[in-house]
Amino acid sequence: MATTSYKCPSCGAGIHYKPAYKKFKCDFCLSEYDEVELSNQRENIDETHAHEHTHEHTHEHRVDEDMGVLNSYHCKSCGAEVVTDETTTATFCYYCHNPVIISNRLKGEFLPNKIIPFKIDNKRAKETFLNWVGRKKFVPDDFTSQSQLEKITGIYLPYWWVDYKADVDYVGEGRSIRVWRAGGREYTETKQYEIVRKGEIDINNVTELAFTKINKDLLNGIGPYDESEAIPFSKPYLSGFFAEQYDIGREKIEPTIEEQVNRYYKYLINESIQGYNNVKNIRNLIDLDVKSWNYTLLPAWILTYSYNGKTYVFAVNGQNGRSYGELPLSRKRMTSAFGMIFSVVFIVLLLGGMFIW
Ligand SMILES: [Zn+2]
Ligand SMILES: [Zn+2]
Repeated sequence: MATTSYKCPSCGAGIHYKPAYKKFKCDFCLSEYDEVELSNQRENIDETHAHEHTHEHTHEHRVDEDMGVLNSYHCKSCGAEVVTDETTTATFCYYCHNPVIISNRLKGEFLPNKIIPFKIDNKRAKETFLNWVGRKKFVPDDFTSQSQLEKITGIYLPYWWVDYKADVDYVGEGRSIRVWRAGGREYTETKQYEIVRKGEIDINNVTELAFTKINKDLLNGIGPYDESEAIPFSKPYLSGFFAEQYDIGREKIEPTIEEQVNRYYKYLINESIQGYNNVKNIRNLIDLDVKSWNYTLLPAWILTYSYNGKTYVFAVNGQNGRSYGELPLSRKRMTSAFGMIFSVVFIVLLLGGMFIW
């Protein structure tokens, strides 16, 4: 399988993207590089690789045809055989911890158009988690342990981002009713209005998660992302993080996205015709045109915790630090505090989950 590992141009160690510096920084010799310097270097590495390992290419070819089955690669740093999930595009070697990008999964229809690079680093993600747990009682003892904190993972998740042009043709009938009394009689005045909303509107950045392996509600809880900071996709940003490939294709997601657009359109129309006692829709047509369809990678920190057979997840938006999670409650600790057993129901309100743009 074709892979890319970004190396420190000075000392050759594996190099990571550091959100706090907005640069790539080598942990060993402390040299710093920007994305352009590393992108240039990448071509050199790939070429050397091609010349040195010609025998591997026949092997690679076979792997390409058979990609669903064989999900492993050889780490270029230590030579170990590393197994990955079939959707993983950026990971680390289990043995030497060098970051690795699985480049042949970032091609063709799987080449992302856009990316929002991480701005929140590992340290801030951990602080966010600890603040969130705060002084909450009844969480299991090891919930905030160092080994638990080490599990927090920076991951680029695949999203579809769609921009639409919509032709709107709305006609409605609005009524305002006024009732008053004078001289012992009741008067009613009804004014009738024709409401016309016609024209072209842009509905941009309609977002849907393109990945089945993580709970969508959880990610809605950390949305929205600020799309103005998205940049054209560039592979070096993946170095030092995990990344996943989409597993929900465009055809499959299109109805969900259009449903979002229709919901938003209804909301827009309702917002624009306030002030009547009642409104009757006479004509309500919307004609949608896709302006651009983007495969985007968005950054998130994810921490999972397994407790009493259930997995709890905590997530931090890798761009703005917004967080969301479920708290495991230790029954043992609750029982000892109250001397009785509770059944706890959590009602979670998702903010910003409906319209994410
Ligand atoms: Zn170095
Ligand atoms: Zn290795």
